[in-house]
Formats: sequence, C-alpha cells, structure tokens
Amino acid sequence: MNAGKSTALLQTNHNFIENNLKTLVFIPQLDDSSISKIVSRIGIEVDAIPANSNFNFYKYTKLEDTKEIKSIFIDEVQFLKKDQIDQLSKIADNLNIPVMCYGLRTNFMGELFEGSDRLLSIADNLHEIKTICSYCTRKATMVIKINSEGKAETQGAEIKIGGNDLYKSVCRKHFRKLTKLV
Ligand SMILES: [Zn+2]
Repeated sequence: MNAGKSTALLQTNHNFIENNLKTLVFIPQLDDSSISKIVSRIGIEVDAIPANSNFNFYKYTKLEDTKEIKSIFIDEVQFLKKDQIDQLSKIADNLNIPVMCYGLRTNFMGELFEGSDRLLSIADNLHEIKTICSYCTRKATMVIKINSEGKAETQGAEIKIGGNDLYKSVCRKHFRKLTKLV
C-alpha cells in the first residue's frame, strides 16, 4: 500500500538535509523484521530509527541536541499507540520541534487505526495526499486488502508494513461495492 506518502516524506526531509538542517526520521517496528529504511517508489531512500510499541519518542528526542533538530518525520504513523502520539505532541509543545506524521487514516475494514484516531484528534494541521481509486478516477479515501483469490478481505489483522502488493487504494463507492462494510 503506497499512496505516495513515503515519497512526500522523503522529499520534504530531503529539503531539510539539503539546507544542512538536522532531522530525525522514525518508522514503527511491528515485528522482528527491523525495517529501518523508508523507500519510495521513485527510488529515494533514507535510514529511519525503528520504534516498537514501547519506544518513547519524547524521551529519545530529549536526549538529542534538540536545538539542532529542525524537524521530525514519522512514516506509517497509523501503527503508533495513542500514548506515542501524545509523546509527539509533547515534542512539538515542550521541545519546539515540528513533528510531521505520514500515514493512513483507516485500515482495510474502514476503521480508524489507533495512532490515526489520536492524531486526527490532536494534530495542529492535516494535509490530505490525494491519489486516485484503483478502479475508477474518483479520489481514493479507503484501503482494501486483496486475498490470494483476488477478493477483498473484510476481517483479520491490520496492515503489515511493506505489504505493497496486497493493498489497494480505493474510493468509498468501490470500498462499499467490494467489502460491503459501509
Ligand atoms: Zn472507485
């Protein structure tokens, strides 16, 4: 699943690096696979600090030279826990470092992810990265998970990181048609 958000993250991060501005880049770590790179479809990649569910973003960042860090970037932010999103807001408020989060709003069942739920509640700004439906030209706002028989799944575990080929961005009309969940 890739709506171009990793590309957007990498481009913005690159703008900072190009101007010799220090950033921190994080990616949630869901299992032992320890993915610690963010790779975009257009070939840019950057090393990211892996953050598991016990990782404390505020404590980690506070130990850094916080005056030097000009921005923090997080990919796949939907996978963070509610309290981790709150830690990010403390970084913005207490350490005065902007935190830019990139992620999906809902899972393949059309439900908010825990991290996205909290983020939508407390974020200062929201920007929608627009992409089109895999089946028509409407704006894609939902995600479906395709199983081995080519059918849309309506239950099971939430998205796994890096599962590019199993997930498709779709409009709500096609989400309804394919999952009957709306
Ligand atoms: Zn559609």
